[in-house]
Amino acid sequence: MDILVVGGGLCGTLVALALSRHQLDVTLLTGAAHPQAMPAATRYSYGGIPWWMGVGDGGKTLAGRGLACWQQLQERHGDLGLRPATLLLHWSAADDADDNTAVEVAVAALATSLPPDATLERWGRPDFRRGDLEPLGLTCAGAIGLPYGRIDSRHYHHAMARVLRRQGVRCSPGAVAQVLVHDGRCMGARLTDGVVVECDSVVLATGAAVARLLPLPGADRWFPYSWASVLPLGQPQLCPEVILMPLLGGRERMERQGQADLVVDPGLAPWHGGVVFGQVTSLHHQRRRPATPGHPTGLSLRGPGQPSVAEARLRQALAELAPGLAAAARRQQSTVRHCPVSYSPDGRPWIGGCPGIRNLWLFGGFRGGFALAPVLAPVLAEAIAHNGTVAVELGVDPARLLKPQGSPCPPSQEGAPRSSRS
Ligand SMILES: Cc1cc2nc3c(=O)[nH]c(=O)nc-3n(C[C@H](O)[C@H](O)[C@H](O)COP(=O)(O)OP(=O)(O)OC[C@H]3O[C@@H](n4cnc5c(N)ncnc54)[C@H](O)[C@@H]3O)c2cc1C
Repeated sequence: MDILVVGGGLCGTLVALALSRHQLDVTLLTGAAHPQAMPAATRYSYGGIPWWMGVGDGGKTLAGRGLACWQQLQERHGDLGLRPATLLLHWSAADDADDNTAVEVAVAALATSLPPDATLERWGRPDFRRGDLEPLGLTCAGAIGLPYGRIDSRHYHHAMARVLRRQGVRCSPGAVAQVLVHDGRCMGARLTDGVVVECDSVVLATGAAVARLLPLPGADRWFPYSWASVLPLGQPQLCPEVILMPLLGGRERMERQGQADLVVDPGLAPWHGGVVFGQVTSLHHQRRRPATPGHPTGLSLRGPGQPSVAEARLRQALAELAPGLAAAARRQQSTVRHCPVSYSPDGRPWIGGCPGIRNLWLFGGFRGGFALAPVLAPVLAEAIAHNGTVAVELGVDPARLLKPQGSPCPPSQEGAPRSSRS
């Protein structure tokens, strides 16, 4: 069986690896050769593994397997970039002054979402002045510390390319312009260079670009994405084991409500030998770009609505949270980066067959992807290899996203394949 996996980020690489264990003929297209650079969320990610997360049944099914799954993958394939870390969920003096209840409510909610034996450490202001953290000049009023793990994105990228080759996966920088569907069945894909690849199944793991490729009317509404703006800083790596994130983050609420807005969730993580400071999330409503002579496929994603506003808010947040780092950013003349991040309005990923189109599979939309994607990639690979379905109780069937709209999803008849096999 020939399988074409589209997308070279966390999801595409993990599902390609899982498929290769079924002795299938797997080709991975990373999209790197697309005429316009396609920034992947995985590249700028903190890579933190919220190890307690699961899916289905209020998040309880398959919960707590993320870290163990990465350890198993490393035992099998060598170092993939798994590193120990501490997660610090911080709050500011203003959060604390705000009658003090928001912080305590959030801490209590966090405690109930963790296994009873999880150790939470309470940090006060003086704790931020010790060791590696001192030069950052952090202004946090307090934090909850948790044992965590992270995937070093640079290491992962290179290690995974080697592992996939060793497993017999053909990796190509090609990009898909169009998924080819005939008579309700996916036949392959046409690439941006015009080459047609026929195969038995296609897996779309293209992150934010999934809606652009799905031959379903209204897909933009069902598979949304936001833009993350981050500031990567070069050497020195000051706190190699700490991931700092706000306890009272705003991104998830904004994405759930789906209202166009911009929120700042100040945090930082080790990144490429330095640190990445994030993140401003911008949500504006995207529509499939009409095809034009410059963009024949309508594939490129529009950037954040107001990049200069996002940048200004990000730099202001950095100056407020970590004045020491803000000074380093000015010295280094660091440039703000923007990348699209797919999300699912109900917080659960989409994993399984595309409604209305046989042999087309979807894998993405994760919250906590670094914990859940390694657990769920083998589940999807199993379904593809045996032409089965992903267990309903996991609650991840992509069809649930389409049903509330009340509209059927007729398969597109466009573009039946004309030539060569992968
Ligand atoms: C600042 C930041 C911090 C984050 N921190 C965390 C964290 O701590 N923990 C966590 O679990 N998650 C975190 N996330 C979210 C996480 O990074 C994403 O959920 C995850 O990386 C998504 O992976 P993906 O493979 O679905 O998408 P992407 O990484 O975006 O990959 C999509 C891939 O598809 C390719 N592609 C697109 N179009 C085409 C095409 N037409 N043809 C071929 N290829 C194509 C792209 O080139 C790319 O390789 C963070 C995100 C950001 C931005």
